[in-house]
Amino acid sequence: MAKALTTHPSGTGIAYRDEVPADRDRHGVLWARLTEAPGEGRPNFRALHTSRQRRSMLEQLCQVCGGPASRSSRGVLFLLQRPEPGEEPTGWPEETLSTKPPICEPCATLATHHCPHLTDPVLVRSRKPRIWGVFGGFLTPTANGLTPLPSHDTLPYGDPTAPWFLASQLVVELTRCQVVG
Ligand SMILES: [Zn+2]
Repeated sequence: MAKALTTHPSGTGIAYRDEVPADRDRHGVLWARLTEAPGEGRPNFRALHTSRQRRSMLEQLCQVCGGPASRSSRGVLFLLQRPEPGEEPTGWPEETLSTKPPICEPCATLATHHCPHLTDPVLVRSRKPRIWGVFGGFLTPTANGLTPLPSHDTLPYGDPTAPWFLASQLVVELTRCQVVG
């Protein structure tokens, strides 16, 4: 990753050595490239997921099959994991931040029955899924070039530290939510 990236000519933030306009979104945030495989020679499933995740969020496509996500007068369908008891934020699922794109009804039915990592799945419709920001990580200049900071995080659009952030997923905020059966 660090080889293709360099400090931006302005001195503030990161840039690709051969950057093209498509490397940034309309908020100016830099995105991980498909070719940025951390282990060379191995397929980079996470990066493939990056491109598909972003498109699914923007175009409201099902996260599983890629078809149109379910949409009704009550909003767009999302599949969430219910927070642990006692950790449920006030008003949940209102204002939940999600990196999981919406879903269609047939895939939601399958996922709720067959997805082992979803221990307590909840279907939620959001009338207003708002593009909130990005998920990814910060890079920092060191003596050896740019070094990724170990933690991954979410970053809201408009954050002043965004020039040092490499995005890998789009984050939406689910508003005007309703839990559905
Ligand atoms: Zn589907």
